[in-house]
Amino acid sequence: MARGKGIIPHWHLSSLKEIDLDMLKSLGVKGMVLDLDNTIVPGTKSEVPPDVKAWIEEAKEKGFKLCIFSNTLRIRRLGKISRETGIDYVRGSFKPRKGGLRKALDFMGVEPEESVMIGDRLLTDIWGGNRMGMWTILVEPLRGGEGTATKIFRHLERFLLRLLAGRELKRGFLRQNK
Ligand SMILES: [Mg+2]
Repeated sequence: MARGKGIIPHWHLSSLKEIDLDMLKSLGVKGMVLDLDNTIVPGTKSEVPPDVKAWIEEAKEKGFKLCIFSNTLRIRRLGKISRETGIDYVRGSFKPRKGGLRKALDFMGVEPEESVMIGDRLLTDIWGGNRMGMWTILVEPLRGGEGTATKIFRHLERFLLRLLAGRELKRGFLRQNK
């Protein structure tokens, strides 16, 4: 099975809802590590959108273990989102360093190849997940509340992805939804 490489995700989807949970199951995925900002809440907000909540419930019903991974300094906000979603969180070293993700996998009791990293950033979420040997899913950021610096980084990242994915697509590594 082709694995993600560098900052190239295994899948690039528009939202969490697009994730084919049954397909992940068939690949042996048992645990999912979720990024916080712009993946389950828009920007730096604290409210989880209803469609994200619905997706989380569906994933739980299908038997997936979930874990929020963040290096945010706003612990109270992290705690609130954790309670709201019913998902535990792990805080750890700055992505893409592997230490924090290792903690998240140990917490769920799953191996890297049985897990998927889901996030909106290539240089942190996807690179970190790929380095760990996890499956990786890039989702488009939730709308609202994004700072200018993040926007600039995102444009750079997308440019890099287009540049690299063009090559990788030819070699058949990247699987895209559409
Ligand atoms: Mg994020």
